[in-house]
Amino acid sequence: MAIQRTFSIIKPDATERNLTGGVNKMIEEAGLRIVAQKRIRMTQAQAETFYAVHSERPFFGELVEFMTSGPVVVQVLEGEDAIVKYRDVMGATNPAEAAEGTIRKAYAKSIGENSVHGSDAPETAAIEIAQFFSGNEIVG
Ligand code: UDP
Repeated sequence: MAIQRTFSIIKPDATERNLTGGVNKMIEEAGLRIVAQKRIRMTQAQAETFYAVHSERPFFGELVEFMTSGPVVVQVLEGEDAIVKYRDVMGATNPAEAAEGTIRKAYAKSIGENSVHGSDAPETAAIEIAQFFSGNEIVG
């Protein structure tokens, strides 16, 4: 498997509890390199675009409200098989189902406020990275 890049968000429930460092430690210990990172306040338009695939789901409004409720840290992670590796480190969407040793098991509050996002495929990773970073902000 080649070196890949994936897109990560440390969500408002985690920044609010000062968990950026804790999440980053778990990312780096998994062998992933943080090659871009910035703390931003997502606008409603950015959140709606980012989660457009979920626009028909009943939780969409709540999700957009949550993602714009406080600062987030957007990141690009790089490493061997980075997309699947980060999904493994994140754990299941619902923290009640997340495995021991995962970020969501350690930190997530609920299925909605679940501390982190990670891309699910190479195509979405490319789109998500391009939504938040220009090429010269990514330093591999
Ligand atoms: N989400 C939610 N309620 C649900 C399912 C998902 O609020 O019943 C939120 C949650 O924050 C999740 C995001 O929507 O992380 C995207 O859902 P997805 O199924 O893509 O999960 P993920 O890829 O983040 O594990």
